[in-house]
Amino acid sequence: MTLKAGVVAVQGDVSEHAEAVRRAGAAHDREVTVEEIRTAGTVPDCDLLLLPGGESTTISRLLHDEGIAEEIVAHVEAGKPVLATCAGLIVAATDAGDDRVETLGIADVTVERNAFGRQKDSFEAPLEVEGLEEPFPAVFIRAPLISDVGEGVEVLAEWDGRPVAVRDGPVVGTSFHPELTPDSRIHGLGLFEAEGDDGSTSDQ
Ligand code: GLN
Repeated sequence: MTLKAGVVAVQGDVSEHAEAVRRAGAAHDREVTVEEIRTAGTVPDCDLLLLPGGESTTISRLLHDEGIAEEIVAHVEAGKPVLATCAGLIVAATDAGDDRVETLGIADVTVERNAFGRQKDSFEAPLEVEGLEEPFPAVFIRAPLISDVGEGVEVLAEWDGRPVAVRDGPVVGTSFHPELTPDSRIHGLGLFEAEGDDGSTSDQ
């Protein structure tokens, strides 16, 4: 069965995620079609969702204005996978510590915007990630700090003693940008290796 992946495209880095999910699908022997999501009505048809980086205040406002926010919440309640990266993770969080971000509450974490890597706005680091055999080349760009994780949230990776990748049920969130390298293993981990899903993404 071909899987339909939706990349939330109201703002932010879209095309890199579309490419990465295609590559990750190929690595898992799954055919993937990619839809860009700018309006309500498409998310309910999607098997997988990507919530890219960009500017979290803008993304969250547009998601609510367009009526996409509640569709994403329903997608998660149905147990379908989401990969949320950087600003996407801020929007997905329970608490963004910033009233201008209306969070979705699909990943039970508290984040602080622009607080990670204070000295350097952007950096790349080899990251040990739970479930990956070799370190992942993680690109951090004005990344959020994950300051607290809820019960039941699994920390998949840490940098400098801080969580930078988490799994909360069907949602995987990263502070960094996995779409900016040719390495699609994080997309594989988040979207094609979900635990306890309904079977639609398993390799059976
Ligand atoms: N700094 C951005 C925000 O707080 C996130 C940065 C990114 O997605 N690269 O919304």
